[in-house]
Amino acid sequence: MTDCIFCSIIAGKIPSQKVYEDEYVYAFRDISPQAPVHILIVPKVHIESATNINSDNAYLVSKCFEAITKIAESENLNDGFRVITNSGKDAGQTVFHLHFHLLGGRPFGAGLV
Ligand code: AMP
Ligand code: ZN
Repeated sequence: MTDCIFCSIIAGKIPSQKVYEDEYVYAFRDISPQAPVHILIVPKVHIESATNINSDNAYLVSKCFEAITKIAESENLNDGFRVITNSGKDAGQTVFHLHFHLLGGRPFGAGLV
């Protein structure tokens, strides 16, 4: 999709710190990390947000989570991690290409799930 920053990153038109890639998924370090490990996992196909997941593309969510397991291992997140997806304005979604924030490397404690 034109004018989508994550599509441009996937296409290599905008640089990123890639940590994982396969046929379906691309993952890279968040430019503004909120934890020692903060990685964005995105399907290569442009899906706007969680509300656009349907029976035709749901397998890509599974592919994202399979990637998350591999990345958590390679990043040594052996004590656990948090996965967040923001959907829509109230959630604070700023990039409208479905993505999962993988956060780890410190305890998050109680609050906000
Ligand atoms: P969200 O607010 O859930 O839509 O998350 C968007 C995330 O993308 C934010 O955490 C940003 O820091 C991150 N981000 C925006 N542009 C880039 C970029 N060029 N490279 C890496 N991360 C980015
Ligand atoms: Zn996109």
